[in-house]
Amino acid sequence: MYTCKGKCVFGGWAIGKIRVFNKGERKVKRISVKDPDKEMERFNKAKAEAAFQLKKLYDQVLKEVGKANAAIFKVHLLLLEDSLYLSSIEKIIKELNYNAEYAIEETTEKIVIMFSSIDNAYLRSRTADIRDVSTRIINILSGEEEFTIDSEEPIILFADDLSPSETVQLDRERCKIAAFVTAQGAAFSHTAILARTMNIPLIIKADIELNTEFNNKNAVVNGSEGLVYIDPNTEFITEIQNIISTEAKARESLNVLRGLPNVTIDGAKVELNANICHAKDVVTVIRNDAGGVGMYRSEFLFLEKEDFPDEEMQFDQYKAIAEILGKNMKCIIRTLDIGADKQLPYLPLPKEDNPAMGVRSIRISLRYPEVFRTQLRAIHRASAYGRVGILFPMITSVEELRKVKAFSAKVRDEVIKDGCSVGEVTYGIMIETPAAVVISDLLASEVEFFNIGTNDLAQYAMAADRQNPELDEYFDPYNTALMRMIKMTTDNAKKKGVHVSICGELASNTALTDLFLAIGVDSLSVPPSLILPLRKLIRETNLSKVRDEALKILG
Ligand code: PEP
Ligand code: MG
Repeated sequence: MYTCKGKCVFGGWAIGKIRVFNKGERKVKRISVKDPDKEMERFNKAKAEAAFQLKKLYDQVLKEVGKANAAIFKVHLLLLEDSLYLSSIEKIIKELNYNAEYAIEETTEKIVIMFSSIDNAYLRSRTADIRDVSTRIINILSGEEEFTIDSEEPIILFADDLSPSETVQLDRERCKIAAFVTAQGAAFSHTAILARTMNIPLIIKADIELNTEFNNKNAVVNGSEGLVYIDPNTEFITEIQNIISTEAKARESLNVLRGLPNVTIDGAKVELNANICHAKDVVTVIRNDAGGVGMYRSEFLFLEKEDFPDEEMQFDQYKAIAEILGKNMKCIIRTLDIGADKQLPYLPLPKEDNPAMGVRSIRISLRYPEVFRTQLRAIHRASAYGRVGILFPMITSVEELRKVKAFSAKVRDEVIKDGCSVGEVTYGIMIETPAAVVISDLLASEVEFFNIGTNDLAQYAMAADRQNPELDEYFDPYNTALMRMIKMTTDNAKKKGVHVSICGELASNTALTDLFLAIGVDSLSVPPSLILPLRKLIRETNLSKVRDEALKILG
């Protein structure tokens, strides 16, 4: 047995078999070929194999999840026969005498550039499909396989890094991921957030080797200490199995807290809500006895699809969450918050030098009104089934907020005119830019609730990209500037009777719970699995005794 070390992001022990996820940094080389006809034959054979794979995938997806989801493979099959695509490849092979891989890559880039400049969102979104089809043929030519996991045993996934869309697409139905271990990564990235919501231990910046020879070796992960033990002996595995079952019993013992209020010994109350990324996570919200959903990151629905989810598909998801939570539990749906590390392959955005400060989040919704309208229609329709709140991310001014609210009101009128039922909705915003904090007194006159997003707020306040692992030191949880921003926002919210919640990752930092209670936030919104441990802590706290000490962080 030997040990690798990394940085702990989400704790817990895990045992499983290693699977190495190599993105296979494939560099296509330009090679001159002596026999272009033979090269054409090679290409045609690979194309036929791609068509065979796509037909198989179509049938399989059709059977498992229906026509709408399978349609994408039909589109890919059509692209395989596209005359513009094929004639360009043939020309490069036959007239310029280059290899098939290079001909495919060149053609793909040419078409992508051509489509990206067309003022048609549908055609632009097809560029991702062209890339997908080309990658498939190139992989066949080079003998590479697609990465899929089909395993009965729990998997410890080793990767260089994982994007949120890769994480979300890992087939959780066909395998059980016991832990993620990545060589890179950042603690406040959306992959980290996803791992917390999925309740899966995650270690980042680990000194692991991404060698496929590790596949199927046993490993033990200690998420809390950031340690990975490779090839442990059976005694060690048994010892860890015992620890895991003791911890499971301790977690079960928290069930006695179900139904009890989140109240300190001296009577201070706070709501505990859950952050979720998928409609199916709502089950864990109920199981962990959260007050409701404090923030549903709706963008994960978009990230797991091959194309924009249409109104019906979105409505089904939002309705499912609202209906399960019912009229008593909150259901806060955040509108699409993409950009920076959350990229939709079917919405290619222009390259930016500073994507975290670029066209992202609400700015994208405002630039793509059809996408925004479709989402808002689905949310307003879902409001008939539960206690829905609409949360707008990354707001920076009162004018911007009024614009999105007016847009939403117009969409709601359209929905009603179409004869659909709607329920009451409340409006809220993410307070996640220093601008929003500074004008929180003005913004408080416009909405019913504030969600303080400490992940982005820390990034913008400290001028430290949350994706950059070099800048960890700027994400000090005790940062005075950040804590004062939370206090200022809360004070301004309270003056106007606006509900204030902390929904960034700091909400689950138990070293700060006393301070948040002392500042007087109304709610903490955290991964579902942390609700009961936090309730226990709050019920054991005597706020009057710890208040002064806690407030010292404010300086
Ligand atoms: C935040 O920024 O704190 C937040 C809750 O949103 P996200 O992490 O999804 O950007
Ligand atoms: Mg944010």
